[in-house]
Formats: sequence, structure tokens, C-alpha cells
Amino acid sequence: DEPEFRVVSVVRRHGRERPEAPALTGDGRTVSYGELDARSSRAARLLLAEGVRAGDRVAYVGKNAPEYFDLLFGAAKLGAVTVPVNWRLTAEEIEAILADAGAVLTLADREAGPFQAPGRLLRTGPEFEDGLAAHEASDPGFTGTPDDIVAQLYTSGTTGVPKGVPLSNRNFSVGERRASSWLLDEHSVNLVASPVFHVGGTGWALTGLHAGCHHIVVRDVRAAELAELFERHRITNGFVVPAVLQAMCDLPERHDYSAVRAIGYGAAPITTGLLRRVKEVIGAPLYQVYGMTETTGTMVQLDPADHEREDLLRSAGRPFPWVELKIADPETGRELPPGETGEVWVRSDQNTRGYWNRPEETARLLTPDGWLRTGDAGHVGAEGHLFLTDRIKDMIVTGGENVYPVEVEEVLARHPGIADVAVVGVPDPRWGESVLAVVVPVGPGGPTEEDVLEYGRRHLAGFKRPRAVVFLDELPRNPGGKVLKRDLRAPYWEAEGRSIG
Ligand code: ATP
Ligand code: MG
Repeated sequence: DEPEFRVVSVVRRHGRERPEAPALTGDGRTVSYGELDARSSRAARLLLAEGVRAGDRVAYVGKNAPEYFDLLFGAAKLGAVTVPVNWRLTAEEIEAILADAGAVLTLADREAGPFQAPGRLLRTGPEFEDGLAAHEASDPGFTGTPDDIVAQLYTSGTTGVPKGVPLSNRNFSVGERRASSWLLDEHSVNLVASPVFHVGGTGWALTGLHAGCHHIVVRDVRAAELAELFERHRITNGFVVPAVLQAMCDLPERHDYSAVRAIGYGAAPITTGLLRRVKEVIGAPLYQVYGMTETTGTMVQLDPADHEREDLLRSAGRPFPWVELKIADPETGRELPPGETGEVWVRSDQNTRGYWNRPEETARLLTPDGWLRTGDAGHVGAEGHLFLTDRIKDMIVTGGENVYPVEVEEVLARHPGIADVAVVGVPDPRWGESVLAVVVPVGPGGPTEEDVLEYGRRHLAGFKRPRAVVFLDELPRNPGGKVLKRDLRAPYWEAEGRSIG
């Protein structure tokens, strides 16, 4: 019901109506909404002078910094698309993304690189500041249509190479409804600690900018500094991953969190232990969010009230009222009855219209009637709560039966000698795939392969039982804490490829 929403209107409106209100604090300075409006107009003029035109891609490679928003709104003021890139990637990986996006200009943070940019390369600091100063703060005035693309974010690359996801004004138009759900308004002081190259950073910040909050933009996420920022700026809202919440709760000193109204966290469920600590130390209501780059971030959330119920702590929550969700048979799309595990499908204005330059993957992602296949497996409980279990790609098909690894992992994790465990499918000449358990033992004297197999035989149906066990000191995880199952699987499938070839 907001067909006229444009991301760029956010900075124009607050710039006009509340020019003195602080928009962003980071890197030791504060930029008001009036200044952000003026700086982004200068940035737009700078981009135009560099030959950037509507529809072009401009990249940002760097840590969270106010300059990212100068670029984002500057590009939007002439109809160009901002592509934030993960600065932690190798030069080769960054260059692959810049090439994939066709970036005509790249703004790099002082700590990013070195890497080769395909077009013009600018640095934040004196070079960018001089560039802004050399141009007038006159807004080129582009407005565009609801379906014009504003930003192109890359997926995290957990299951394959990162894919470019163009996101439009319409996709971001849910910001207002989300802002009220997250208690964000003009009086909020909102922490932007999640990296802007993830939707949890850019999407969260755009929601807050929409609401007119003051944002505390954090370059490096370290628990002690975050705690200090909460005190100094009287932060009211923020989005952090559970690992950072844990680190903040583990700090030796006491901090003042009395200004906090709500904290969002995501990408993983919370444990009862951590929840209890957060209540003691921070005392703020918690929201868990589930979303993906392709859905412009959060589409399902677990409200504070649901955190009071232990049976819901492993749930990701319920879809926003404007999001349709069903559990589908991944092959046929048929809706499965409540309680049954299948693939999570969603439909809403938040869905991207498809990947950038990847027609086959887009055809797999979207159905003709507008459903988006998340690639996540889960089920819905009696009260409509979503419980995520696995990635569909991690599902093991053995002898025609579907095995969801998490189910097996949860059983094996109960073995006292097992500290951590991941279950993957490996090639099997007879069954197609078979179940392999990758086990991190609690220490020396942990279980043998036969102990683990025997434990599986006692507690799991035949087709779900591990057929083999390997031991590792640690599971490979990405910086977000997700287990890299494709790395665990790869050697087996490569060996298979060689033996066939
Ligand atoms: P790629 O698509 O490149 O393999 P990715 O899926 O990790 O990478 P993102 O779009 O950043 O890239 O992450 C979205 C995924 O993160 C979801 O599909 C889901 O698997 C996981 N996720 C997000 N929120 C939650 C949550 N609250 N609980 C569990 N998993 C979550
Ligand atoms: Mg994904």
C-alpha cells in the first residue's frame, strides 16, 4: 500500500524536514540528515562527472562507514545502483564480484584492498572528500519507478558462489512497516554493526533511515567497544548476531544498557543460557529475525513475548503479516500439512525479481506464480511458528528417502563424547548417497567410529543412520558461524568424479 515509495525519498524528506537531526555517527564524526542530503547530492554530481549514468553499478568495498551512505543515496539520486562488496574476501573474489556486477566505479575504504577495480577506483578520505567538495550540492532529481533497482547485494556464498541480488524500491518499501515492528522512530539511536555488504547491514540501516533514527555506524565489532558505544550514545535499538551478544554478556565490567528498547539478532537460534544472560545483563526485549538476501532481509520474526516460551526458542518465529509462507514439497511445490518438514516458500513484495545475470538460478528461485524457494528446510508448528532445520541442498537422499541432517546431528550431539557434529551426504554406489557423520570429540578418549555407529543404530531409523564417521578438531564455519557443509562434502564428491571419469 506504498506504491510511491522510493529509497531516495528518505534522505530528501528528512533532509528537508529535519535537517539538523543526526543521521549517522561513525569514524569520529556525526552527519545530520541535512548534511547527508547535501553530501549525497555532491556524490551524485561527482558520479555524473565520472561518467556514471542511470542503471550503472557502483561498488563500495569497505567497512561500515558514513561514506557508504553518501554513495548509496548519491547513486540513487541519479538512478545508479550501489553494490556493497565484502571487504574480507580475497582480491580475486572481490574482483570476480566487481566484474560480475559490471561496476563502472568503485569506492574503497582506506583499509580495503589491494585489488583491481574494473573501472574508476576512488578512496574514502581526502580523495573522496576533495571530490565531494569540488561539486555542488545540487540534487540531480532522479526518482524512477517502484521497480527500479537501488542496491545489488551478494549472497553470503554459503552454498556456492555469491549471487548478485538486485533489490528495488518496492522491495525496500516494507521499511516503514518493519520500523514500527522494531520500535524504530525519530527518537531511536540505532546500532549499525552488521556489515553493510549483508542485507542485515544495509537493510537494517535503510529501515532505520526511513524512520529517521540516529545511526551509530560501527567499523569493527568488538564487544567492549560496543558496550561502551551503548553507554555513550544511549543506544536504543540494534541488530547483532548471537555470538556478539554472548561476548557482550561475558564482559567483566558492568555497563549501562538502560536506554535499550529492543535488540534484533539473526542467522541462528538463541540458547536458553544466552537468553537468560541477556535478560540479566542487557535486560532488553529480543527479536529473532529470519531472512535472506533474496527477500530483502527479514520476513519471519520471533517476538519478545515468544522468547518467554522455551518450546519456541528454536523457532525463527512467524512471518510478517504481509508475507505469505508455506512448507512445500521441494519437487512439486505442493503444500505440506502442518508439522511436516519440507522447503520454506515465501511470497511478498520483499522478493527480488531474480538474480543478476543468472537466468537458470532465477528460474530455480522463483515460480511463475510468485513464490520464492528459500532453499531452507523446516516445518511450521501448531501456532504458525517456523522451525528451520536445514538447507535443502544439505538434504541427503539415500535409497529414495529424504534425510534432514539436523535431525541426525541432534541425536548424535546427545552422545556425551561428542562436542560438535555435522552430517553430510556422500556418494554411495548402492544408495545414491549415504550419511557421513563428521565428529568433533570432546577430547582425548572420545568415542571410536564404532561407538558412534552403534549410537546411531540405537537411536535412528535405518536409513538415517551414519554409515561412516570421520573425526575433526573443529568444523569449518564461515564468519557468520554457518557450518560450511560443502567443504565437508567436497573431497568425497571430487573423488567420486575422478573415479567415474
Ligand atoms: P548463499 O545463498 O550464497 O549460499 P547464504 O544463503 O548464507 O549464502 P544469505 O542470503 O546471507 O546467504 O543468508 C540467508 C540464509 O541464512 C537463509 O537462507 C538461512 O539459511 C540462513 N538464516 C537466516 N536467518 C536465519 C535464522 N534466524 N535462523 C537460521 N538460519 C537463518
Ligand atoms: Mg542463500
